[in-house]
Amino acid sequence: MSDIKNVAVIGSGTMGNGIAHTFAQFGFKVSLIDISQEALNKGLTTIAKNLDRQVAKGSLTESDKESTLNNITTYTDLKEGVAKVELVVEAATENIDLKLKIFKDLDACTSPTTILATNTSSISITKIASVTSKADKVIGMHFMNPVPVMKLVEVIRGYATSDEVAAITMELSKKLNKVPTEVNDYPGFIANRILMPMINEAIYSLYESVAGVEEIDTVMKLGMAHPMGPLQLADFIGLDVCLSILNVLHDGFGNPKYAPCPLLVNMVTAGYKGVKSGEGFYKYTAGSKDLVVSDKFKK
Ligand code: NAD
Repeated sequence: MSDIKNVAVIGSGTMGNGIAHTFAQFGFKVSLIDISQEALNKGLTTIAKNLDRQVAKGSLTESDKESTLNNITTYTDLKEGVAKVELVVEAATENIDLKLKIFKDLDACTSPTTILATNTSSISITKIASVTSKADKVIGMHFMNPVPVMKLVEVIRGYATSDEVAAITMELSKKLNKVPTEVNDYPGFIANRILMPMINEAIYSLYESVAGVEEIDTVMKLGMAHPMGPLQLADFIGLDVCLSILNVLHDGFGNPKYAPCPLLVNMVTAGYKGVKSGEGFYKYTAGSKDLVVSDKFKK
């Protein structure tokens, strides 16, 4: 049904480099686009490191690693990067104005048949599609972090997404050895509509001194068999990303149950964003796997 061989990935951060890695590993030619060569180099370094890990585990060969890296070309110019692709997956910063601008530009510089997917965690696909002249070709392709490892792709149909584009996106996700799940376009879709209130409630529990960081995470890990506690998971996702998703849920439903905890707002405002900034609920030191509670929350 689909004849997609060339894919552009916009953004080479946490998600973008994982998405580029995955498409390239499965034989697609990938144009990886970011605003600076420095960001692209950082993305490529992460991809190489993650491929090394797969080789060490025996799930990829050294030659698979080389061909994956050879399938990726980097660009700082959007127009150049998307010129010859059949699919774009946008994974730039979670900011609505930025995404609307990118999609307006994509509308002007991609072929009319190019599918425009976004990896947004929560922003309306219908809203993003509304700034293009081909809303039927716009779809949500929500990968999970870390992309090369996690099986799920939440495929989100905007109000005007065509059946054909939805079917192509489902089929394509299977080619990446993922399990696609189709959902409709309402705030937070399914994954974050359920996950973020849980994370927010964990932060409220800390804020109200019901329990400490380790206690909250231990209850959810051992009591509910979650592989990671909600506070560690929030650090991993990025506290800024969690805050912007909660704001989308709060604005979109107008229900106070989604109001972000003031502690989360303070932490993001102060630059404590979790793993990416080196500190959130826990403190992260490069090269160390120990989970150390931030001094702010030490008893
Ligand atoms: P990130 O901050 O790690 O990376 C964002 C990248 O986008 C940066 O490298 C930045 O330079 C780049 N960028 C910004 N403006 C750009 C532009 N105009 N053109 C090209 N690149 C640009 O963010 P992330 O965590 O990778 O999130 C990316 C998207 O994926 C967001 O929409 C987020 O909601 C979504 N998402 C994140 C997670 C997660 O766990 N972090 C999970 C699922 C989905």
